[in-house]
Amino acid sequence: MKVYNTLSGRKEEFVPIEEGKVSMYVCGPTVYNLIHIGNARPMIVFDTVRRYLEHKGYDVNYVSNFTDVDDKIIKKALEEGVDPSVISERYIDECKKDMQMMNVRPATTHPKATEEIGGMIEMIKTLIDKGYAYPAADGTVYFRTRNFKGYGKLSHKNIDDLQSGMRALLVSGEDQKEDPLDFVLWKPKKEGEPFWESPWCEGRPGWHIECSVMSKKYLGEMIDIHAGGEDLIFPHHENEIAQSEAANGKPFSKYWMHNAFLNIDNKKMSKSLGNFKTVRDIAESYDLQILRFFMLSAHYRSPLNFSAPLMESAKNSLERIITCVSNLTYGIQNAKTEEMSEEEKALAEKAKEYITQFDNAMDDDFNTADAITAIFDLVKFINTNTTEQSSRAYLSALKDEIVMLTDICGLITEKQEESLDQQVEDLIEARQAARKSKDFAKADEIRDRLLQMGIVLEDTREGVKWHRA
Ligand code: AMP
Ligand code: ZN
Repeated sequence: MKVYNTLSGRKEEFVPIEEGKVSMYVCGPTVYNLIHIGNARPMIVFDTVRRYLEHKGYDVNYVSNFTDVDDKIIKKALEEGVDPSVISERYIDECKKDMQMMNVRPATTHPKATEEIGGMIEMIKTLIDKGYAYPAADGTVYFRTRNFKGYGKLSHKNIDDLQSGMRALLVSGEDQKEDPLDFVLWKPKKEGEPFWESPWCEGRPGWHIECSVMSKKYLGEMIDIHAGGEDLIFPHHENEIAQSEAANGKPFSKYWMHNAFLNIDNKKMSKSLGNFKTVRDIAESYDLQILRFFMLSAHYRSPLNFSAPLMESAKNSLERIITCVSNLTYGIQNAKTEEMSEEEKALAEKAKEYITQFDNAMDDDFNTADAITAIFDLVKFINTNTTEQSSRAYLSALKDEIVMLTDICGLITEKQEESLDQQVEDLIEARQAARKSKDFAKADEIRDRLLQMGIVLEDTREGVKWHRA
């Protein structure tokens, strides 16, 4: 399996640190608002990476944080006259609802920055002890960037080019830095802001330190995959590497994965352009499975454009897969023969080639676009090679295969519980009709069919009742 590693700038064979296990850290959202469809891209992409790794047999420990202390959260809290935790808790809950609707599985652990301040202070102390950080007169602690020899290795930037860029950007109050490249690890509180005690001043952490600390606590000093959107490469991930490697004296993450940006109508999505869409906005018009399908229809390292016509086309495409699965379900319920014929055995074997096609695509740096093509090729195969005469075993084998592949993509293609109820009601109605027309053989057949679905019928005076066995 090959993974594109931002660190080396090329695709590399994926070999985890510990055989059979993968530790993965994905930078999560800052929770001051409903998440937008751009934030949904890394969630969907890396949830799919996780599912595929699990499909390959890895035991995946997946950590994704919530940044719950930040200027934007504090600003919103002041506007509403509430504690910042009211804002962050509200949007963590809303984010979890969106994740569920997109079928993004909860992480193994979702740490919150405000609950890890002690660990951050410890890491900052270590960095000071090792000469990689220093407190300024007002209690701000800075990372001494030039002391970390590998600085720039992730973003492939030269430290001297960075330096000349930074000089122009020097803002007031920053003159206490030893070097313009130094970045903040801890900063003094401002009036009305939440703060924590520390050896340097009452204050709060800089943004980058939280991820170094949380990934170490929940995954260890060396991890397999660190991921996020490409805007995080510099400075966030570059700074995380500097902090973690300086503090731990070990390489931090083996692979760095970054998704490209999602644009909207071919423009950058931003609040000022007024073209900003939340996941909740989309949920008003579409099942979020369609948003998920849309995101996976492109490779994660390609920019993706969101537009209404593209969502419509995603809707139609997903519908084709869902129809195929529901036809199989119907066929299984109504099959006239049980066992596979010799010809069907050969066809079922041939259908497995689509699993290989799917796996090959995913093994090539998680190429979900090509993996979805493999699913459509399988749909075509199923539509061409099944008839009303197909056996139950054959249809079941095909259904298991297509559901397995869509499941790896996190796409729900099987009708859910309510529709199962509907199917049961329909079958009961068909049985009543058969009895009325004195076709008792057919009525019995339907009863047996329901039994196989785990449904027990009871003929009562009030009519037919059913329950699960
Ligand atoms: P933030 O809350 O801004 O820290 O973003 C959370 C995650 O969403 C990060 O991994 C970002 O890189 C990612 N992200 C933000 N905007 C976009 C976008 N338009 N397209 C893709 N990913 C994005
Ligand atoms: Zn991070």
